[in-house]
Amino acid sequence: MTATVPARVAAASATSTGTTKAAEPEAVPEPITIAGPSLPIVGAAGPSAGSMRDADEEMRHGVRHTKGEEGTIHSWELVTAVDGPGTRLTYFLAGCALRCLYCHNPDTWMMRNGTRATADEILTRVRRYSHVLKASDGGLTISGGEPLLQPDFVARIFRGAKEMGIHTALDTSGFLGARASNELLADTDLVLLDVKSGDPATYKKVTGRALQPTLDFGRRLSAQGVKIWVRYVLVPGLTDDAHNVDLVADYLAELDTVERVEVLPFHQMGREKWHALNEPYALEDTKAPEPALVARVRRQFAERGLTVY
Ligand code: SF4
Repeated sequence: MTATVPARVAAASATSTGTTKAAEPEAVPEPITIAGPSLPIVGAAGPSAGSMRDADEEMRHGVRHTKGEEGTIHSWELVTAVDGPGTRLTYFLAGCALRCLYCHNPDTWMMRNGTRATADEILTRVRRYSHVLKASDGGLTISGGEPLLQPDFVARIFRGAKEMGIHTALDTSGFLGARASNELLADTDLVLLDVKSGDPATYKKVTGRALQPTLDFGRRLSAQGVKIWVRYVLVPGLTDDAHNVDLVADYLAELDTVERVEVLPFHQMGREKWHALNEPYALEDTKAPEPALVARVRRQFAERGLTVY
């Protein structure tokens, strides 16, 4: 997930309760409307070695749910104006292969901290809210963490959602895009693709991982006609270099299916979670980008003919 959208309120939290809500009848939570992203970082060295070891472990074990009947989730929520068009039922899967310095949901990183759920349970909830989702031209979004750590689980859920006529969106960094089957992509109406940097060295510094798999995944989505909404997190001193932004913009301009680019100003709303997890937080003193910087970066994308938010 992009992890810069402020202050989510989960309708069910796997980590706080150990179980997700499943009782019938279920009260429909009020959709949360969030105006937009906002915030930034300077001089960070990159994710810690310990954090990357944990991420490597997630990579090794992320495919253990091979049949996809069940998986591991962090939480879910009903939202409006984020995670895709209309009102969305958004599921956050547990586990992530990246360790983004600006992540505001580090509590989603470890699969072992999540809760087991079956695809059928999730599809039951999708069915329950289907009238709300369809009435708003919304749908189902699967985010994380990194959903493609559990690709068969996502594929099974999306297949069921499409059988109900529900719009589907996948929120991913693209780093594990090679794990997404063509069948999964055929059932995906929209990918929310986080392109965290255009320069490989900066990408590595931001995430601890290589950039190329994300670039490859974006090209594959374009070739298969899958719509893309790109998110770019603007962090002063980290991702604001004009050449770096140009690299991202040039890349996106090559793709045929990018419908919009969202420039998300860095914010500090995740800081307390890093502290609570006792994770070293490199952006402690980083401020939100100035409006002039945000405007410059948005202009760089717009100059390539991209629609920018
Ligand atoms: S570390 Fe994972 S969950 Fe956090 S922002 Fe990066 S990709 Fe998203």
